[in-house]
Amino acid sequence: MIEINNITFEYNGLKAIDNISIKIEKGESIAIIGPNGSGKSTFLKILNALIFPSSGDYIFNGEKITPSSMNNQIFSKKFHKKIGFVFQNSDSQLFCSSVYDEIAFGPRQMGLSEIDVKRRCEDCLRLLNIEDLKDRVPFNLSGGEKKRVAIACVLSSNPEVIVLDEPMNGLDPRTKRFFRELLIKLNQSGKTVICATHDFEYVKDVFKRAIVFSKNHRIIRDDHYDKVINDS
Ligand code: ADP
Ligand code: ADP
Repeated sequence: MIEINNITFEYNGLKAIDNISIKIEKGESIAIIGPNGSGKSTFLKILNALIFPSSGDYIFNGEKITPSSMNNQIFSKKFHKKIGFVFQNSDSQLFCSSVYDEIAFGPRQMGLSEIDVKRRCEDCLRLLNIEDLKDRVPFNLSGGEKKRVAIACVLSSNPEVIVLDEPMNGLDPRTKRFFRELLIKLNQSGKTVICATHDFEYVKDVFKRAIVFSKNHRIIRDDHYDKVINDS
């Protein structure tokens, strides 16, 4: 479903990703691992077409993702419906005046009826255990609450692929355990999960595969998650 062929990405001439190639099938659950600055976030942003590779191809469901393909509104809407991104910093994806409107944003963009929007929002509020926050201003929530809202916002569009950038960073152990269960549940329900993480003690049994980036921005390992963790 996802094919990354010899992708390199440079910020002002400096490599952040150096010639990586990856294939990802539907239903996989993958941890993206590596030291700070190795290119994990850059890779996840490319997957979500927030940035485009300097060279190489990104193919999603058989279609090449390029600035010009994403300029096509119909294509770009279809793409963003299939893949959802939970940013490392939740503040950068919360902009509505209530949690409910925030979660309703994606389904409304898709043109669903208000009844269907409501059903989706209620499901997501329940799944993230944030029903009591629905009328709150997202900006005023705690870090853990914001992260729950950000995940609910992505899930309300019912994407096939969910990409998360260090979702457990800075959260309390209870929330980390909650997110662990959630990631397992999402993958069991058939969603492809791709997640950058350092929180090894909190992601037991979540991932089947690990892709390891090195400090020189290359992939140095791509194997069963348990094998990679046991060897390191
Ligand atoms: P990671 O997520 O593994 O910490 P990043 O993808 O954020 O790594 O960063 C990869 C490299 O790209 C690093 O050297 C980082 O300094 C650089 N980088 C990241 N974002 C930017 C940016 N907006 N402008 C310039 N350089 C950047
Ligand atoms: P945490 O225990 O997750 O660190 P905080 O201490 O940040 O949470 O917040 C505790 C509670 O206070 C949360 O319910 C949060 O939503 C609320 N809260 C935090 N900051 C604000 C604010 N600026 N305005 C209104 N409510 C807030």
